[in-house]
Formats: sequence, C-alpha cells, structure tokens
Amino acid sequence: MIHLEAKKSLGQNFLVDPKIHARIVACIAPKPDDVMIEIGPGTGLLTRQLLQSPLRKLLAFELDTRAIPELRQEFQSEGERFQVIEQDILTVDLEGLAHVDAQKLRVAGNIPYYITSPILFKLIDDRSVVRDATLLVQKEVSDRLVASPGTKAYGIPTVLANFFGEVKPLFKVAAGSFRPVPRVDSMVIRIDFERGYFARTGTTPPPGFDEPFFRKLVRGAFAMRRKTLRNNLKSLLSLEALEGLENSESGKNFLELRAEALTTADFVQLSSLIRLSSST
Ligand code: SAM
Repeated sequence: MIHLEAKKSLGQNFLVDPKIHARIVACIAPKPDDVMIEIGPGTGLLTRQLLQSPLRKLLAFELDTRAIPELRQEFQSEGERFQVIEQDILTVDLEGLAHVDAQKLRVAGNIPYYITSPILFKLIDDRSVVRDATLLVQKEVSDRLVASPGTKAYGIPTVLANFFGEVKPLFKVAAGSFRPVPRVDSMVIRIDFERGYFARTGTTPPPGFDEPFFRKLVRGAFAMRRKTLRNNLKSLLSLEALEGLENSESGKNFLELRAEALTTADFVQLSSLIRLSSST
C-alpha cells in the first residue's frame, strides 16, 4: 500500500474508500481490448481496481515524483500491461497513444481539481481518439455540465461538453471519502464522446455549420451573461452578419434572448443561420 502525504499544490485529495473505486470501475466496465489512460494515479487505489479488470493496457500519468517509483514497484508484476509516466496530463499526445494500438482510448481519474477545466477542454479537443472519460469531479462542476438552460449553472462548459459528447452524472461521493477531506462533495461523471449532439439526435450538421465557428459563437454569446445576444455578438460578428440576422425572423428572435436561454439545438441553428445569412 502506497502512502503519500497529500500535496495541496498537486490537487491531492486521495479517495480512501475502496468501495467507491470498485463502483467507478464497475461503471467503466473495462473490456479485454481496452486501452485506458488514468489521470493522476496518486496512491494507486483506483489503479489497482482498474488492473483487476480485464483491460489490455493501462497508462497512468502522474506529476508527483514521490509516487512514480512506488507505483512502478507496486504493480511490477503487471509487466507491459501497466506503465506509469511522469508527465503533465495536459501535455500528453493522446492522438499518438491511440495510434499505437489503432484504437480509441478510455480515460479515467479522480482528477486534480485545480485543472478540471483544462482537462475537460483537452479531452474535447482530442475527442476523435477518446471514446469516453469517467471522471471524479467536484459536484459543482458536474452540476454545471448537466445544467438546464435558463439556470445560473448553465454556461459555456454545459453547451460545449454536451455538443461534443454526452455527459451523465453517475453517482455522488461524499467529502468524507477523501483525505484530506475537501470542503465540497464530488460526483463521478461519464462523458461519452461517441454520443455528441449530431450522433445522439441522429441528425447531420445543417448547411453552413462549422465547428470552430460554433465554439466561437458559444463563447462570445456568454461573454456577458446579463446581456442579450444582440449586444454580445456585436464584437464577434460583422455588421453584415448582424444585419442578416436582423432581417430573418428566427435570427431576430435569437438576438433578443440571452445566451442562457438557448439550448444546444438553438446554438446549432443560430450558428448555421449566421453563416448562411452572411454569405448571401
Ligand atoms: N487517483 C488518486 C485517488 O483517487 O486517490 C489521486 C487523486 S488526486 C485528486 C489527483 C492526482 O493527480 C494526484 O495524485 C496528483 O499528484 C495528480 N496530478 C496533479 N496534477 C497533475 C497533472 N497535471 N498531470 C497528471 N497528474 C496530476
């Protein structure tokens, strides 16, 4: 058993209840062919349970230099099946790793809270090689990712995570299950990148739709939450594009709303409408 004095600077709150690790692994249900990435194995309790499942290979990325030799020693008998790599997860070339086994990766981890958003956006950026991610995050983050339109928690992460994937909260983990005990509860979530908006709605991108512009639009629309889209989009769109929207009935209706009122489907429609009306 590995023992580490928790370092706050590395976002270390170790999950100490093995029943929860077992539950996380049961939710992942690794298959014999799966290549998995673990973010921040720390004391290796989740790692152990993952390795007890029938996965093909587990690559664990950890920054804590104290943990690396301990983890290598602890799981030495796994041979090639387990590797621990001293590297910041944010710099890992997931595409390159997926290429080695010619298959998509599955990601798991009780992730360091100080880089939750960068991790989520990295996974979104690398979604073409990531099948799914099962992550333990602060409950507040999970609430934001599954928020409904019109609520305070609804925002850029909600729209983007649910456009590029499908987010599901799996179960709550009480603060008391961690050492040191954090101030807030946590939640295990699953993001399935094969069930992005078009896949799960069985639709295809509307004419003129392009993903980089969609991302820019969502970010720009929420720039000032209290303002309407008409105000927020002024700095993002050309005069021509704004006029194009004003001249179409559905475009005009959108401009009068605040971003928080728009569903993912609305953002898809609006983004295509802007592209079409500014190219005519
Ligand atoms: N998996 C362990 C558990 O469940 O108890 C540890 C979880 S702890 C919340 C987060 C882990 O991520 C720590 O071990 C920490 O050292 C590691 N970590 C922090 N920043 C990291 C980074 N940028 N890349 C990889 N690992 C990181």
